[in-house]
Amino acid sequence: MKLRETSLNMKANGQLRRDLEQNADEILHKVESIGDAHLMSDLETPLRKDAFVLSPEEKVNRIEEKFADILQILGLDLSDDSLSGTPRRVAKMYVNEIFQGLLPENKPQAKLFDNKYRYGQMLLEKNITVHSYCEHHLVPIIGKAHVAYISSGKVIGLSKINRLVRYFSKRPQVQERLTEQIGAELKNALQTEDVAVYIDAEHMCVATRGVEDASSNTITVHYSGKFKEEVYRNEFLKMIS
Ligand SMILES: [Zn+2]
Repeated sequence: MKLRETSLNMKANGQLRRDLEQNADEILHKVESIGDAHLMSDLETPLRKDAFVLSPEEKVNRIEEKFADILQILGLDLSDDSLSGTPRRVAKMYVNEIFQGLLPENKPQAKLFDNKYRYGQMLLEKNITVHSYCEHHLVPIIGKAHVAYISSGKVIGLSKINRLVRYFSKRPQVQERLTEQIGAELKNALQTEDVAVYIDAEHMCVATRGVEDASSNTITVHYSGKFKEEVYRNEFLKMIS
C-alpha cells in the first residue's frame, strides 16, 4: 500500500489520481481473485467473486465503452457508418451470445426419465456442434463433440446433451477444460460414472494466426467408469469413426 500512497501523494492531476486509484483497486481485486482461484477446482472456469454483480445490460454498456476505446486506439474512425455500431454489436455478442455460458441461469436443466425400456447398452450422441472460444486469444474453436453414456436407470432427453455441450462451449475456454466440464456435468446429471466425451476441434488461433496451420485438429477425451475398460472404449471409438 506504500506504493499506492506515494503515487497518490504525487502532484498528479485529478484524472491521473483517479486512474491510479482505480488501477490500485483493480490490482488488489485481481490478487484477491487469484487467491480464490486456488481454492476452486481446476475444472471450474476461473471467475471473479463479483462476476455476477453487474446485470447483463450493464455489462453490455461497459463493454461497449471499452471496445470503442480499443477500436479508437487502433486508429479507426467510429464516426464512419460502417463502424459506428461495432462497439455495441461486439458487446451484445459477448454477453448475450458467445459468452452466455458464463451465466449460471443459462445452464440447461437436465430432466431425467426412468429407463423403462431397460436399454442397457451405450447411448451415443454423435457430431454435436461445438462453437467455443479460445480463452487465450478469444477467437473461435470449431468442432464436433461425441458424447456417450450407459444408463444407470435414468435416461436424459437427447437434446439436453447437445444443450449441455453448447452451454459449456459458450465461454472463453480451453478444449481440455471444456471436455472435462461436459464429462463432469453428465456424470452428475445422469447419476452414472459411465460417460465418454470426445471432442475434435479446430482452433482459429492456430489456423489463422501465429503458426497459421489450417490443417491441424485437436482431440481431447474424457473416459470414466466403464469407458476406462478397453471393450467399451473400443466400441465407442468404432461408433464415432
Ligand atoms: Zn488461442
